[in-house]
Amino acid sequence: MPTASLVQARQVAHTYGRGEDAVAVLRSVDLDVAPAERVAITGPSGSGKTTLLRILAGREVPSGGRVVVGGIDLTRIGRRERDAYRREVVGYVWQRPSAGLLAGVSALDNVQVPMLATGGSRERPGIAAQLLEALGLGDELATPPERMTPAQLRRLALAVALANRPPLLLADEVTAGLEWAAGRQLLEDLCRLLDDLGTAALLVGHEARAQRYVHRVVVIRDGVALAGETAW
Ligand code: ADP
Ligand code: MG
Repeated sequence: MPTASLVQARQVAHTYGRGEDAVAVLRSVDLDVAPAERVAITGPSGSGKTTLLRILAGREVPSGGRVVVGGIDLTRIGRRERDAYRREVVGYVWQRPSAGLLAGVSALDNVQVPMLATGGSRERPGIAAQLLEALGLGDELATPPERMTPAQLRRLALAVALANRPPLLLADEVTAGLEWAAGRQLLEDLCRLLDDLGTAALLVGHEARAQRYVHRVVVIRDGVALAGETAW
């Protein structure tokens, strides 16, 4: 394995359920991501993109294979290490972005929630405001998620995911349902920020929009990861 990799996934397999109900989703996924590299992950609906992201996020233990992120073997760690991993090594944006956000709480406070366990109370509001500004929400610091547009909600979810400056961002369908221009602007702002922070990212989506913002495209098909074709 190249030691320079931030993500090393080897022969990752995942099956949901057992017996007659078993659904084999991932068969043998190999994936390497270097620090600060951006990779688009695409593939048909139901191909296991979200499953792969959840495994890398430390939210699902794969049925087989090995996943090492930032030197941490996700197939071996215990609960406390897993919690720390989720807090500090990866930022995760859910396919339904509001899932990770607190309703009735300002954008500025939402971004500070993940920071509560990592110390530095004095710096928290400043860092949170900077992230929100970088993501185009400088005028919405006091706005709670339920009063945001879908595009603003995605941006807020990204700010929350990046709150602790993780080396890896995992973003599930961040432009889904957005108008083309709004999605492109979001990707542009996000990628500028990722470059500034030196953060690697896996951007999952089933559309072509992300292609020009990434270094590489990987296609998940029939349970394996293929080097991206440029047919999309
Ligand atoms: P994608 O994100 O590419 O659309 P998913 O990873 O969400 O794909 O889902 C892949 C397959 O696994 C689908 O057939 C889906 O129905 C199934 N699946 C996803 N999550 C679960 C679960 N928690 N239990 C059982 N089956 C699931
Ligand atoms: Mg999905």
